[in-house]
Amino acid sequence: METLVFRCSQTGSNVQIGLAVPAFAEPADAYEAVACLACGRMHLVNKRTGKMLSDREGPRCPTLQKS
Ligand SMILES: [Zn+2]
Repeated sequence: METLVFRCSQTGSNVQIGLAVPAFAEPADAYEAVACLACGRMHLVNKRTGKMLSDREGPRCPTLQKS
């Protein structure tokens, strides 16, 4: 089984998870909902990069400016 290490944004600790499907077989934008062992929450983690979905999102809200 493939393993993936991601950084929990809640606790800051590295968490290792097992992947049923090898990361290279997944699309680059495939996110896996994983139950975090560090904080007990669910995180959306990119299988390719180990990045969390929340890592890149941030409070960026596309607001259309119309004058
Ligand atoms: Zn966590």
